[in-house]
Amino acid sequence: MPKLTSSETPTTSKTQSAPATQELSLILLGPPGAGKGTQARALAESLGLRHLSTGELFRQHMQKETPLGVQARVYYDKGEYVPDRLVIAMVREELTLFHSGKGIVLDGFPRTVAQAEALDEILAELGQQITAAIVLVSDTEEIVTRAQGRRVCPEGHTYHTVKNPPSADGRCDIDGLPLRQRIDDRPETVRKRIDTYHNRTKPLLVFYAEKHLLKSVDGTGSIAEVTKNIESVLSEIGAR
Ligand SMILES: [Zn+2]
Repeated sequence: MPKLTSSETPTTSKTQSAPATQELSLILLGPPGAGKGTQARALAESLGLRHLSTGELFRQHMQKETPLGVQARVYYDKGEYVPDRLVIAMVREELTLFHSGKGIVLDGFPRTVAQAEALDEILAELGQQITAAIVLVSDTEEIVTRAQGRRVCPEGHTYHTVKNPPSADGRCDIDGLPLRQRIDDRPETVRKRIDTYHNRTKPLLVFYAEKHLLKSVDGTGSIAEVTKNIESVLSEIGAR
């Protein structure tokens, strides 16, 4: 795919020949339910990075019915993994076409070594490289317990029976709609999803470990505690 330049990023863009300043390019890894999305948002906020979630990217493409979105939907609707080539194409477009120069935190990508290699290429084209791949180390049973207490309203507002209960039992504080437990949050489903993740991600962890980019962070504890753990790892490597 040819490298495209965006007309939406005018005056501040550097000339082609100027060396790019090194931006923070972070990857967040960890099992589903470990709070990657939450942590990615927190980091983006505190470090002024752009948060790129592939889950969100899929939804946007499907909603707008872009050629990539139409192709991705076929797999997405069947609950299958969206093939590497489609995911990579979406990420490439986001990172090159809409390159903001703020640095990025990636959530949900890469998931395979092929995706990781493609990401290296894309970043290299932008004069960038991965700063660190942060893996949230979480206890499976803690994730299971956390998921078990999760309740959602039809509008997507999320609660937790222990950590964040609604003021009226079983009702959403915002719209009063009934709360329910998602099938996805049942213990057996959660355990299976985590197993699949571990099997699929092992090669990816090796890939980043060999490059000395893999940083393990304790993912247990409150959201703020985990954010602090991540930030101290980043200062250790001189990334902030
Ligand atoms: Zn609600």
